[in-house]
Amino acid sequence: MRDTDLYARILNVQAPWTVEDVELDQSGGEVRVHVAYDAGTPLVCPECQRAVPGYDTRQRQWRHLDTCQLRTLLVADVPRVNCPEHGVRQIDVPWAQEGSRFTALFEALVIDWLQEASIQAVAQRLGLSWSAVDGILQRAVTRGLARRDPVASTALAVDEKAYKKRHNYLTVVSDGTRVLHVAEGRREESLAEFLQTLTPAQKHRIQWVSMDMWAPYIQAVTKHLPHGARKIAFDRFHVAKQFNEVVDQVRRKEHKALAQEGDQRLKGTKYHWLRGRGPRKEADQAQFDQLRQQELRTARAWAIKEMAANLWDYRHRDSARHAWKRLLGWMARSRLQPMVKLGQTVRSHLWGILNAVMAGASNSLAENLNNRIQKIKARANGFRNRQRMINAIYFHLGGLDLYPEKASLAD
Ligand SMILES: [Zn+2]
Repeated sequence: MRDTDLYARILNVQAPWTVEDVELDQSGGEVRVHVAYDAGTPLVCPECQRAVPGYDTRQRQWRHLDTCQLRTLLVADVPRVNCPEHGVRQIDVPWAQEGSRFTALFEALVIDWLQEASIQAVAQRLGLSWSAVDGILQRAVTRGLARRDPVASTALAVDEKAYKKRHNYLTVVSDGTRVLHVAEGRREESLAEFLQTLTPAQKHRIQWVSMDMWAPYIQAVTKHLPHGARKIAFDRFHVAKQFNEVVDQVRRKEHKALAQEGDQRLKGTKYHWLRGRGPRKEADQAQFDQLRQQELRTARAWAIKEMAANLWDYRHRDSARHAWKRLLGWMARSRLQPMVKLGQTVRSHLWGILNAVMAGASNSLAENLNNRIQKIKARANGFRNRQRMINAIYFHLGGLDLYPEKASLAD
């Protein structure tokens, strides 16, 4: 077999294109495969598909998958046409997306690698520039978003993500399996701009929106979903987080006060109090049991937090309300200032907590998503801008079909 035939098969080059020449640069570790367009084949405009006269040709090249460990480039003089309606345009080539310097199969390879590694790592591995790999990622996300299925979810979760320094936030909307929307900030519009894209039918289908007790999100849902307030569920994950923060505040203050009198009982105990009743290492368990039975403000805060954690499994709204009210009474009488304050917040949001209890909304979705976003952030070690962070979330968690259409040509 001639090497032009061999490459025609490997690359799946088909009429009206043929492999004309294969140029091997062994010392450079590169092979250049010259592909030509059959001059007898009529040309069509890439926009309207009508047969139109040729104009000229332009030489272009695309990086392809390595062959025999040689960096492989496709080179072609690509005809341009002169369409009466669309002007001078380059014809479509079957192996690459318009404007890309890579074949679709090569882009698909990069997309596969990006699932596993950072842009930096993929660029190094494949001998590409950072911005070339980034370009492939950005195009993949644009493509995936353009062709994704309409939202058909019955439950949504809204979450805020701190970004870079504190006070920089992203709003992330998901349906439990995929991220549907990412927006800058955590304002009312950050969520409203998504809800406004939904059709009336899509809005009606949504039964629950789980979220933090955060006024702008509450506003957005109340305004943009029919019977919005009935659908808001302040989920367990976020409520628990607030209780944990209070326990930690109480512990820090108490530790400081005790330490001034030389009492180091609370030293190094932070994570004991943040954990629930679940199993611990034996030595830790003994130490903790001993601690939490003492007259400590932190122990009191912890006990309240643990009680709150157990109020999510009710079947009836009235019994749930009764139990939560008992907790609120305890919080109000706790003489722990941050706990009293949290009690007021919980009291004024109790309606949405009871919605969440009734919805039986599991917090595993929000938590799972959180962990995955954490990983994306960690891997990227500093995105160059916020839009890149947003696109990385879509890339990894958007459930998108990211591949170029032409990537299946040579399968
Ligand atoms: Zn045209």
